[in-house]
Amino acid sequence: MKRKTYIATLLNMALMIVVFSYLVSPTITHANDTDTYEVSSSTLNIRSAPSNESSIVGQFVKGNQLTAFKEQYGWVQTYYGGKEVWVAKHHLMPVSTSSSPSSTSEMKENLSVTVAAESVMIRAGAGTNYKNTHSVYQGDEFDLISSEGDWYQIQLHNGETGWIASWLTTENGEVVSEETSNESISPESTSNPPQQQPASSGSLAGYTIVIDPGHGGKDPGAIGLGDVQEKDIVYSTSNHVVNQLKEAGANVITTRSGDYFVSLDERARISNDYQTDAFISIHFDSFPLLSVSGTTTYYAHQDDQPLAADIQSSIASSVELTNRGSMQANYKVLRDTTAPSVLVELGFISNQHDVSVVQTNDYQQRVATAITNGLIDYFE
Ligand SMILES: [Zn+2]
Repeated sequence: MKRKTYIATLLNMALMIVVFSYLVSPTITHANDTDTYEVSSSTLNIRSAPSNESSIVGQFVKGNQLTAFKEQYGWVQTYYGGKEVWVAKHHLMPVSTSSSPSSTSEMKENLSVTVAAESVMIRAGAGTNYKNTHSVYQGDEFDLISSEGDWYQIQLHNGETGWIASWLTTENGEVVSEETSNESISPESTSNPPQQQPASSGSLAGYTIVIDPGHGGKDPGAIGLGDVQEKDIVYSTSNHVVNQLKEAGANVITTRSGDYFVSLDERARISNDYQTDAFISIHFDSFPLLSVSGTTTYYAHQDDQPLAADIQSSIASSVELTNRGSMQANYKVLRDTTAPSVLVELGFISNQHDVSVVQTNDYQQRVATAITNGLIDYFE
């Protein structure tokens, strides 16, 4: 009897210790509001592992909600079809699931968006067919009220509400992208996310990369909607790419560094003069049918197909433009280059949606990070 009482007392004490440590422990895994996310891009690949190289097992679409069980290097683990799967976190918006009564009517009241393009029209409804009511400018921040399709309803500073195209904004609360490396994210950075794309993971130290900004000078390339000239966005985008590659440690050579004409022969010759590990020609597309849109990576030599695939899949997972895949095409600049070479077409400037997106700093920065990570994947 005595022994039984003793054991019961021990059990009680053990239980109390467990309960007490649960109450006071600061390290208990928190199942709080940041663990539920809403998909913010039009589609989001579901992968078997936290890597762009892992197999795609499904797709979420905009507005889908998911619960995160684990986070790692910008990837979020959730369940899909009864299995553990991973999605890139930068396509997710945190959803407040707080039980405070005031937040139940407006799920998104804690979220805000920042205008990412230079100046953007605010419309009376969720579409370009609604009338323009205001203009807002890059860096302006607004509370998010609701969303419909690709549009956000925002609270304007004068008290009115209006609609803005979501692809011209960055969502605050979107904290890391899959490129973020080892830094732990503090609670402070969750509420005040960095406005810049984080630096690339991995290293390109020891690799020589040639960046070939298409067209230039007397050759404007394609002329897009609003008289946008391909050579100009090619040039600004290429500068982002060059900076990202240098940050990853690569030795970078460019075939043009201003608005002047360079022949295709000369571009290939520049690349062939070096021990080039990869040659990437930067372009934007155009097509007579205004509805055609998206990104494509071309290769000429069959051997360069893996490089094209790595770069295209990295771009496709980083931007919301349609993924047109990688394709073989007999471009002279690729044919004449001895290094592994690809030509990226980073959107259609003949398409209304693409042309507004590709001119944003955010898009060009995303593409630069994506190309850098595609190269890292390739060399690994
Ligand atoms: Zn071009």
